[in-house]
Amino acid sequence: MTTHTTTTEAGRVAGRPRILIVGGGFAGVECARRLERRLKPHEALITLVTPFDYQLYLPLLPQVASGVLTPQSVAVSLRRGLRRTRVLPGGAIGVDPAAKVCVVRKITDEVVNEPYDVIVLAPGSITRTFDIPGLTEHARGMKTLAEAAYLRDHVIAQLDLADAATDAAEREARLRFVVVGGGYAGTETAACLQRITTAACERYPRLDARDVHWHILDVAPKLMPELGDRLGAEAARTLRRRGIEVSLGVSVAKAEADRVTLTDGRELPCRTLIWTAGVAASPLVGTLGAETVKGRLAVTDRMTLPGFDGVFALGDAAAVPDRAKGDGAVCPPTAQHAQRQGKVVADNVVASLRGEPLRPYVHKDLGLVVDLGGKDAVSKPLGVQLTGLPAQAVARGYHLLALRTNVAKVRTATNWLLNAAAGDDYVRTGFQSRRPATLRDFEYTDAYLTPEEIRSRTSSSADAG
Ligand SMILES: Cc1cc2nc3c(=O)[nH]c(=O)nc-3n(C[C@H](O)[C@H](O)[C@H](O)COP(=O)(O)OP(=O)(O)OC[C@H]3O[C@@H](n4cnc5c(N)ncnc54)[C@H](O)[C@@H]3O)c2cc1C
Repeated sequence: MTTHTTTTEAGRVAGRPRILIVGGGFAGVECARRLERRLKPHEALITLVTPFDYQLYLPLLPQVASGVLTPQSVAVSLRRGLRRTRVLPGGAIGVDPAAKVCVVRKITDEVVNEPYDVIVLAPGSITRTFDIPGLTEHARGMKTLAEAAYLRDHVIAQLDLADAATDAAEREARLRFVVVGGGYAGTETAACLQRITTAACERYPRLDARDVHWHILDVAPKLMPELGDRLGAEAARTLRRRGIEVSLGVSVAKAEADRVTLTDGRELPCRTLIWTAGVAASPLVGTLGAETVKGRLAVTDRMTLPGFDGVFALGDAAAVPDRAKGDGAVCPPTAQHAQRQGKVVADNVVASLRGEPLRPYVHKDLGLVVDLGGKDAVSKPLGVQLTGLPAQAVARGYHLLALRTNVAKVRTATNWLLNAAAGDDYVRTGFQSRRPATLRDFEYTDAYLTPEEIRSRTSSSADAG
């Protein structure tokens, strides 16, 4: 088992070593940017495989779903930040670490082999689902830009349909919205969308805001346990004050098109089930045949994959030891860690090319910001517990600093100002009508190859070569 990663001699002799980054998210983009800065063009060829030409700023996705921000605000252009990286539009569907080849399905569906000397795996995560009847067919996720945009259209469609409904039971079901997952993604999504749905009732003559019901469910006994007891309780109080029902220790037993059955036996007639109950590492991880920790690649604190030459992994897809916490802890799947790990992996890739020692990843968590819409927020920057407007100011300031390009910062700030001054128009784009938009349609988990399929591809191309 090796823990140090070096580039193959063949790679060096044949020309520039090929560095392949998989995933254009927080971790992958940070890594690519730093590699561009640290390596001269003649020192390496950098390729980034990613299905989209933007980096999605996921923490603001609930604000896209609620229409406070336009989708463009959180889709940060890759080409503004990356100068010479070759961006390969597609998704990696398998890796053969022995042959040092990554199999890529381009956005045209053409499947190509991409040889590498060093691979950086940063494909992130997908929504974690369970074997609950009807879940993938009826629930909607909150992981991609399309999911957020579709959800907004769907929610406004429910208001439109409820307003026009002549049947009281239909109106009631359309005005009930169920969110599963009391982490920051689910809580922010429910809080931000509840705000627009109740405010929208002013524009609908037959709807009363008191008839709009939002529910947050979680099997855990607390909302957002990472916030600590006081702030978690404060967030739950704020939500309940606004009429959002918070049910803890309960989950979904069955999902149907027009109702959700809970594990405590309750049946909630509704047309909207939003599923944000955690994430699982990208299925790409399974194609390597490597050791995993709760589905994430088991890497060293230098983010190398033991036993695999030239493989680094990080972000949501990897279980990176959390040296700041110690006690065998691994870093939680957050943007904060992913971005900083990207920087350290880039340095370690450079060190491995130059035969220098690699450095470990150490980062002390800076805390969490949770935007509950309007003036409501809770945040814990550097351990300081804040609520209300000060928390909201910290949350928004943090996001503006964290957005990568100045254009994205200005676009986001302008959207916030415009929304605060003029409110929302609650219009549907209509792009999603009759288009499938549930978890099953978005998670693409069947796109990946088995290790045998990968080997047969890579060995036949080696024979041909
Ligand atoms: C709604 C929501 C709110 C959040 N809020 C916060 C927050 O407030 N603070 C915080 O710290 N974290 C937050 N997170 C978590 C944070 O966004 C993730 O931890 C972070 O994005 C992980 O970074 P990553 O680079 O590993 O993955 P990602 O940023 O998800 O990037 C993965 C990239 O890989 C691409 N990809 C996927 N599969 C493949 C493939 N097979 N081949 C090639 N490319 C692929 C994806 O398209 C994507 O571009 C939130 C997450 C969500 C969903």
